Amino acid sequence: MKKLRIILFLSFWCTMLVNAQFSFKTEKIIFIVLDGFRWQELFYGADSSLYFSEKYVKDRQLVDNRYWHQQYTERRRLLLPFIWSAGMQYGSVYGNRNYNNYVNVSNDFWFSYPGYNEIFTGIKADKEINSNDKINNPNRTVLEMVNNDPRYKNKVAIFGSWDLFPYIVNQSRNGIYVNAGYTDAKGVLTDRELFLNELQHYLISPWSSVRPDILTHYYAFEYLKKNKPSLLYIIYDETDDLAHDGRYDLYLRAANNIDSYIKQLYEWVQTEPEYAGKTTFIITADHGRGNDKDEWKSHGKSIAHSDETWFVIISPDLKPNGEMKTNGQYFNCQFAPTVAKLLDVKYNQKKEHGQPFDFIK
Ligand SMILES: [Zn+2]
Repeated sequence: MKKLRIILFLSFWCTMLVNAQFSFKTEKIIFIVLDGFRWQELFYGADSSLYFSEKYVKDRQLVDNRYWHQQYTERRRLLLPFIWSAGMQYGSVYGNRNYNNYVNVSNDFWFSYPGYNEIFTGIKADKEINSNDKINNPNRTVLEMVNNDPRYKNKVAIFGSWDLFPYIVNQSRNGIYVNAGYTDAKGVLTDRELFLNELQHYLISPWSSVRPDILTHYYAFEYLKKNKPSLLYIIYDETDDLAHDGRYDLYLRAANNIDSYIKQLYEWVQTEPEYAGKTTFIITADHGRGNDKDEWKSHGKSIAHSDETWFVIISPDLKPNGEMKTNGQYFNCQFAPTVAKLLDVKYNQKKEHGQPFDFIK
């Protein structure tokens, strides 16, 4: 009798534990950032005041008529066909300020290192991270928290075009897998990785600290197929740097390319039993840019509106709502606690952190 009681007791707690572990369908998260990509283009496609300007479209053939349509719903679909088809159908798109649906950064700086610090740590207003210098981040990121959980050990990876990510996630402290800037893939490599390792030292990029996004994409995709990470961050950069360079033609091309990279990842996920029906996609930007005809190139505290962001979420745990047209205010500091919540990882919630999104129940 006593034995039976112990068995019943154990089976009760095992059931409770299993239920607790699988409170969400999400077992994998693919988190994508388009550095400095504006909500204005996300929701309204190419901006006529920039698209038809010779100052910002230096090579008309690069854009030709491919991103222009009188109707904005068609125009945005020409620019970001994946987001405006699958994103609309299977997910929700937040941040159209014309519907009072607001997404903002909560840090005070409105540029990249503070932006990624906010996305990765969930800290609302960190005064300490106030430059883009190569300084190891003293804060603990959600990547580290997930990686420290035995269920996810060595199942976290980040790929970026910008060479600052080893510092932003403090790789030297936690050993998280980072491939950023012109870093070669290491270990047992696929043919494609070997080719990428060769290619990246020949492809010409205008920036010494940023490699072309296509390299970052295929490095990440190869890693995904090979290592099946639970939490994968892919940070594309060209949208930001091409905007700084005042190349609206290339800025649009870069965004359009990234949309097709995301489509590839999404379609692969649907065919892979370990991922299909268990993967949440979150897509966002680390900051916005100016709204004015010249200020679109830049961002930072002195550029009005560059704290304005957006996000797309496609998740087996959420009812798809398409474009959000309801009042709401969301912040980039909510991503880290949301990631922890979806993966059922302990997040040491303090008052300086954002809360998980309230729609994750
Ligand atoms: Zn920038």
